[in-house]
Amino acid sequence: MSEPVDIVAEALAVARSWKFLPAKTINRAIIVLADEVERLQAEARIAQVLPLQPQPETVTTTSPKRKRLTRNAAECHNCKTTIESKHRHDFRGCNCDPDSPTWIAVDGGLEYQRRMAGSHANYRDLSTYE
Ligand SMILES: [Zn+2]
Repeated sequence: MSEPVDIVAEALAVARSWKFLPAKTINRAIIVLADEVERLQAEARIAQVLPLQPQPETVTTTSPKRKRLTRNAAECHNCKTTIESKHRHDFRGCNCDPDSPTWIAVDGGLEYQRRMAGSHANYRDLSTYE
């Protein structure tokens, strides 16, 4: 396995090759990577926990203490659209141009709340919890 510093250098080299890609494509790639890292970390935690003593609360992604998400949505004040992510890989962007600084997106469904917002985004979170 590579040293962490090599991984950072490789990731930067890949990121530099992305400079001509649209922001939306890059955002999607980042989401896919983040999901994969999350999955691998969960696997690693399970591998660590199981040989010792089963502790289900440390390996599940939703803690019993945390409020449960019942709606993952946001409204863009710029284009007046409401976007809602209904499942883990349901990536929804507003009607603004994805390359504009007002563009927003939601993802993750009810499993996790992922938000992307440009530097001039103006939106209201419409998520609900139970
Ligand atoms: Zn918008």
